[in-house]
Amino acid sequence: MRLVLLGGPGAGKGTQAKLLQARLGIRQLSTGDLLRSAVEEGSALGKAARGFMEQGQLVPDEVVLGLIREVVGSDEYSDGFALDGFPRTVAQAEGLDRLLEELGLSLDAVLSIEVPDGVIVRRLGNRRTCGRCGELFNLDTRLPRTSGLCDCCGAKLVQRDDDKPETVRRRLEVYHDHTEPLKTRYAEQGLLRTVDGDRDVEAIYEDLAAALA
Ligand code: AMP
Repeated sequence: MRLVLLGGPGAGKGTQAKLLQARLGIRQLSTGDLLRSAVEEGSALGKAARGFMEQGQLVPDEVVLGLIREVVGSDEYSDGFALDGFPRTVAQAEGLDRLLEELGLSLDAVLSIEVPDGVIVRRLGNRRTCGRCGELFNLDTRLPRTSGLCDCCGAKLVQRDDDKPETVRRRLEVYHDHTEPLKTRYAEQGLLRTVDGDRDVEAIYEDLAAALA
């Protein structure tokens, strides 16, 4: 199955993509994770992306499209994927359509997780991520068993630089201006399913799974 997960920053795309992967075997493909790894490695891609990411701005379309082109056609994703954080602009959505057409593939559904801005600002302020394995925690809703340490691998939990309040507000603006218009595009293509994301993780997952049935 080939899916796109849409939603603002902190809407729960990553959490739900991980559940879809664990329970339905649909592989998560997160451009944010790929870009963060590239920044850590200090690769040419990482160097091109770093400044934009730190400021909560979008990395240029051609950079992200190049990255997606490399991975979408690879063996790793031949059975399908849940795109998490891509596409984020109309140009990226057009690029994805072209790429899938070249590969003789198509999308099965676009799932939009809807969360009010005020909830997102609070949620991201409380989000902590494991610096080693990427597991997500929340100081409100999912505390680690030992304060500051990952339940899964014991590494230190960190706050992403772009989860700081001013950057979150910028990312929300970018989402409303550039990404939200994609909902109309995918609704016209008959692919869009929307889900209320201001609930607990399991309730959201059930709705997403039902939308795919
Ligand atoms: P995320 O983890 O999806 O919130 O992404 C973190 C940051 O990576 C974003 O704020 C952007 O700077 C960059 N990024 C991730 N995916 C994309 C994309 N599809 N287009 C442009 N920039 C992206």
